[in-house]
Amino acid sequence: MGTLLEIKGLKKYFPIRSKKLFNRTVEYVKAVDDVSFTIEEGETLGLVGESGCGKSTTGRSAIRLIEPTEGEIIFDKKNLCQLSTRELRETRKDLQIVFQDPYASLNPRKTVGATLEEPLIIHGVPKSERKKKVEEILEVVGLTSYHSGAYPHEFSGGQRQRIGIARALITRPKLVVADEPVSALDVSIQSQILNLMKDLQDQFKLTYLFISHNLSVIRHVSDRIGVMYLGRLVEIAPKAELYNNVCHPYTEALLSAAPNLNPRVKAERILLKGDIPNPVNPPSGCAFHTRCHKCMEVCKTDRPELREVSPGHFVACHL
Ligand code: SF4
Repeated sequence: MGTLLEIKGLKKYFPIRSKKLFNRTVEYVKAVDDVSFTIEEGETLGLVGESGCGKSTTGRSAIRLIEPTEGEIIFDKKNLCQLSTRELRETRKDLQIVFQDPYASLNPRKTVGATLEEPLIIHGVPKSERKKKVEEILEVVGLTSYHSGAYPHEFSGGQRQRIGIARALITRPKLVVADEPVSALDVSIQSQILNLMKDLQDQFKLTYLFISHNLSVIRHVSDRIGVMYLGRLVEIAPKAELYNNVCHPYTEALLSAAPNLNPRVKAERILLKGDIPNPVNPPSGCAFHTRCHKCMEVCKTDRPELREVSPGHFVACHL
């Protein structure tokens, strides 16, 4: 076991252009702003935060599905940012993604078999082997070879997500970014898909970067959890450590809002004031200070950096 993915100082800024100034860039949306973390082989790192905090952009930039503005991405000892187009295409088979909305991510005009065959064609798998591989992966995700000739609209939401997972796994990747993979599904189906993903992780020795706004989902699947706020990581720790020794006021507020499975534990809910600020113009100092229930004067001017408070537990807070 070793480190499979190392992200160093990742930034993704989206330019805002002004029509009045002949399309010149006037500002940037700092969707991801200096994020660093590692993922070990076979591990699941959960990324959680409110919508708009930059977790999906982090996931997509981490596998160069979108180009990062700055930073290093070391995957399997290779710097993804320095690979040529051909080298990146070859590496793609080891890096896959499962999207939130399986219906939107499947081509409605293609049969499931044709959709699953596509990555195999791209990676040069001979035609004689492709049909067998498609049938095998359908069985693995709980469907049958019969489904190969059907179209996406003929499936339920849960089945479509199984197809999305099959498409991601057909090239036998090492790392899978799962971007809100169960958010669009009924609660009754969510646990089936989460359990399937866990089983597949054991079977194929997969490493997951699992992104969700739902802390219950993140808690179920993750070994370590990273909490994001306004494009930055504010706390990252092994799961048990995060739940037993939560340090950042934002994480505290998120945990207090999540349903508690133990009725004897009465946690007081911490209500966050206001909305998440505009990432074009984030607050000075600690970006969370406008909503923090523990804010101090220093928080308004000085930005806290991540520091280690116990082994493997990092927090960005002045407290
Ligand atoms: Fe709250 Fe200050 Fe910590 Fe930011 S640095 S989370 S404002 S206490």
